[in-house]
Amino acid sequence: MHKCRICGSNTIPLLKMPNMPSRSQFFPTEETLNLDKPTTLNIVQCSACGLIQLNNEPVSYYKEVIRATSVSKEMRKFRIHQLKKFIEKYRLSRKKG
Ligand SMILES: [Zn+2]
Repeated sequence: MHKCRICGSNTIPLLKMPNMPSRSQFFPTEETLNLDKPTTLNIVQCSACGLIQLNNEPVSYYKEVIRATSVSKEMRKFRIHQLKKFIEKYRLSRKKG
């Protein structure tokens, strides 16, 4: 049985998704499609903390994947502006007094 990646408790099978691409990079081309091996994604949920996760092994290149850990100055400014408008629209700011 798969153990939760966060708390180590047992997980419960939720969903199986067969015939999914085996990786999100290097998708096959029309010429290499016959060589591609689809995979089944097994989605499970932790019985203790509720985290939904895959119990599949990670792809072989997972340590080399580039992740965006920062954003540009322009994007930061845009997101702050967007968040302020959201807070105003839904009146989420704390009222003083
Ligand atoms: Zn858990």
